[in-house]
Amino acid sequence: MTVAAPVPPHGLAVCGGGISGLALAVLARARGVADVIVLEAAGRPGGKIQTEWRDGFCCEWGPQGFLDNVPEMLALVSRLGLDGELVRADDAAGDRFIARNGQLRQVPLSPPAFLTSDVLSLPGRLRVLLEPFQRRGAEEESVFTFAARRIGREAAEVLVDAMVTGVYAGDPAQLSLPATFPKMRAMEREYGSLVRAMLARRKSGGGGPAGPGGTLTTLRAGMQQLTDALASALGPAVRLNAPVAGVTRSEHGFSVRLADGSELATRQVAVAVPPGAAAQALAPLLPNGAVAALQGIPYAKVAVVMTGYRAPRPFAHPTRGFGFLVPGRERRRILGTIFCDATFPAQAPAGATLLRTLLGGARDPGALDLPDGELLALVRRELDHFLGGDPAPDFVRIIRHDYGIPQYTLGHLARLDEIERAAAAVPGLHLLGNGFHGIAANACVVEAAKAAAAVATVAGAA
Ligand SMILES: Cc1cc2nc3c(=O)[nH]c(=O)nc-3n(C[C@H](O)[C@H](O)[C@H](O)COP(=O)(O)OP(=O)(O)OC[C@H]3O[C@@H](n4cnc5c(N)ncnc54)[C@H](O)[C@@H]3O)c2cc1C
Repeated sequence: MTVAAPVPPHGLAVCGGGISGLALAVLARARGVADVIVLEAAGRPGGKIQTEWRDGFCCEWGPQGFLDNVPEMLALVSRLGLDGELVRADDAAGDRFIARNGQLRQVPLSPPAFLTSDVLSLPGRLRVLLEPFQRRGAEEESVFTFAARRIGREAAEVLVDAMVTGVYAGDPAQLSLPATFPKMRAMEREYGSLVRAMLARRKSGGGGPAGPGGTLTTLRAGMQQLTDALASALGPAVRLNAPVAGVTRSEHGFSVRLADGSELATRQVAVAVPPGAAAQALAPLLPNGAVAALQGIPYAKVAVVMTGYRAPRPFAHPTRGFGFLVPGRERRRILGTIFCDATFPAQAPAGATLLRTLLGGARDPGALDLPDGELLALVRRELDHFLGGDPAPDFVRIIRHDYGIPQYTLGHLARLDEIERAAAAVPGLHLLGNGFHGIAANACVVEAAKAAAAVATVAGAA
């Protein structure tokens, strides 16, 4: 009788093959970590990043792009040999619109333009000017409380709500300011005023209050080109249809149990799945408080409705610019619409118009329950209202994300603290992904780079 030789443990098992997990696997390998494996529940890699082309129209299921000013992301793109594939947003995409009192208003891009703009009422604009004279707030407060205190209720309800809708599909009254916009909290702490901070940073070349500047960027074939390249670089190290059911300690480090009951030994394990799934997988390993904290990170549901039109200029509005956002106080059912062909002209056939309308979010999760026909009819009514005209689309694609965007609600930093202290007590365990320190693809790559350094340190010490 022959006895099978014991299978040596993997160097690193990465649970989750979204951009966070894939980037970590590539970067850990680059740092010399041997025998890395990625375990992905779905039948394809990429997670939220997915691009589909139909009849010349590009349909992004998740992110449309990333800002081109984060060194870790640019370094990853270069490592994959994709520098020549980067596509920056058209200059025209600098124009943005916000709905106020049922109409689209152009967002002013300079202080003088703001003073004469109709994006806020005159009293609303004057109140913004009083920003430097407002008192500081509590250590943790909601984005809405912070904004209403500093720039007034109207600007909070229109400008800040729109920004939160655009980034998080979230409710500004629920989101934690230091967790979602840490830079704003830091500016207030350091300078006592956002205006004073911006003036000081402008002198030193820094970015605005919501974060660093930069140009929205994608790849020639869309965002999936990035995750496809990561997955190709990893080759057979990416195992699809491999949902992780649980992680426990073992003599070599960890034992990862898959949903089919099989077990895999690994020296280190990185969990790059959404926090709810991480809670399940790590329940055997982490104390109850940390598991509850993981479960306490909620997600907003998001529906994406893509509509494409072959006829040139099918609406009264020229649909030039990046698109428009609809603050909650407008009581409409869409969160906003991106003018995709104006932003990235190659994402639609020449002369055609491609729109991407978002619905749902923390404000209206029930929108995802509407059947496709009703959802499309709703979008057409809303586009008619804001853009003028109800042309029949030649291309339609509807995508629902039940777990769309994590919400860093009040208490997020305390939850993070509990989770990270518990994870740090388990050497060789790493946690990352968009549920913790930033929801942008860039933030995921920054976290992946940090995790790769930590994995390499542990591997070196082993
Ligand atoms: C509609 C929409 C628009 C967006 N727009 C932008 C944008 O314009 N710019 C931007 O920067 N970001 C944007 N984002 C956010 C960005 O897409 C995400 O934050 C990022 O892609 C998340 O990557 P991730 O790897 O952390 O998570 P995910 O992409 O969610 O990947 C997690 C992976 O884990 C897998 N998984 C889950 N459970 C298990 C398990 N038990 N075992 C194994 N695998 C498991 C999942 O199948 C998935 O593949 C958008 C998101 C959405 C939904």
